[in-house]
Amino acid sequence: MAAFDLLVRGARIVAPGRVFPGWLGLRDGRFAAVEEGVPPADLEAAEVHDAGGLVALPGLVDCHAHLREPGLEHKEDFATGTAAAAAGGVATVLVQPFSRPPVATAVDLARRRAIAEQKAVVDFGLQAVVGPANLDELPALQAGGAISFELFLADALEGMAMPDDAALLRVLEAVAAVGGLAGVYCESEALKNEAIRRLERAGRVDPQAHTLSRPPAGEALGAARAALLGRQAGARVHLRQLSTREAVAVVRALKELGGDLTAEVNPHHLCLTSAELDRQGPYARVNPPLREAEDVEALWAGLHDGTLDLIGTDHAPHAREEKESGRDNIWRAPTGLPGLETWLPLLLDAVARGRLDLLQLARWCAEAPARRFGLGGRKGAIQVGADADLALVDLQREAVLGQGPLYTKAGYTPFHGRRVRGIVQATYVRGRQVMRAGRVDPGARGAFLRSEAR
Ligand SMILES: [Zn+2]
Repeated sequence: MAAFDLLVRGARIVAPGRVFPGWLGLRDGRFAAVEEGVPPADLEAAEVHDAGGLVALPGLVDCHAHLREPGLEHKEDFATGTAAAAAGGVATVLVQPFSRPPVATAVDLARRRAIAEQKAVVDFGLQAVVGPANLDELPALQAGGAISFELFLADALEGMAMPDDAALLRVLEAVAAVGGLAGVYCESEALKNEAIRRLERAGRVDPQAHTLSRPPAGEALGAARAALLGRQAGARVHLRQLSTREAVAVVRALKELGGDLTAEVNPHHLCLTSAELDRQGPYARVNPPLREAEDVEALWAGLHDGTLDLIGTDHAPHAREEKESGRDNIWRAPTGLPGLETWLPLLLDAVARGRLDLLQLARWCAEAPARRFGLGGRKGAIQVGADADLALVDLQREAVLGQGPLYTKAGYTPFHGRRVRGIVQATYVRGRQVMRAGRVDPGARGAFLRSEAR
């Protein structure tokens, strides 16, 4: 019997803490050998892939993806959304709860899991929405494998809004009681509503009105509420999609207090500014809005000093016609941008520009999200015993984003026309190649992931 099912040789391997030329031995879907240099001549492997000098990153772990199914399949489904992931070097997607119905009960979770198990081509975990209306469901959701519990301080579903600090405290205590992770969308419902009232009174329907509708103070106040009340409740809190220098400053200060707090940033907030609303109109409408160049700099600085822990895509596709409906009135456009296919190329390009290095890329986009969402040791790192998830990337090749067809049903990208240096050549999930040279294997099947017991 061969020593390995698959041998990947000739790679520049990005393992935790070091980058080196070497080879990988894969067995039963896991890394069985991670070694420097060339493999011994007498080594037996059922199959051999020569990486030809490409860089081997851990398959990325996206902790923030909206895949829409069931109920909103015209926007995305598990087949197209996970194909987009595979095309982008993403081996694991953790999926936000906004299907129809949303994932608010253990029954919703089980139904969605069954659908995804039939269609997903990369591994997946499922997130649940939580609010005052479904606190009784938390133990069953946790037992069913919900990988996080998502709270919304603005734009909440019916019954899920936190009308005051006491309500937010009770929800955080309930998440803490089941040992779950609380993902919090930080915003101020009251400030947002006040801003929108003023803008409507002024007759504003232009794209920049959206930027003004979500003042930075709202995000910073939301982050402070969630962090402080999470600390009081003894909850593990993950702040979602921060976009402003104000929020970065607040989180930096609050992290000094200790507590179990992490924070996330999305690629579009690291790579785009609100100027895109003038250029792309409704196609650049996202929450929180794209901000100013000073915010972009603050977010990168926040990553580098550890204030921000990780990057997630907030992949949130909508049909082109839905986005078009906001062409003359920005309020009519749904919010959200597709991002799974462009995430890694954008970050590789940022490596080429000196914004970060490969070790940081692997940490922020794979290792840290895996650890935070209870998948540490199994996902997000090239190390013996971990799932053999890989993204093979070419750092030298250039591409223009959005020129070829995309797997996401959205069919567009807010990065259209952007020239990047660095492309994804192949993606492996548990030792199986699920994408090569842009072609996704539709026969691959992802596995359901739950957090390791804490
Ligand atoms: Zn989102």
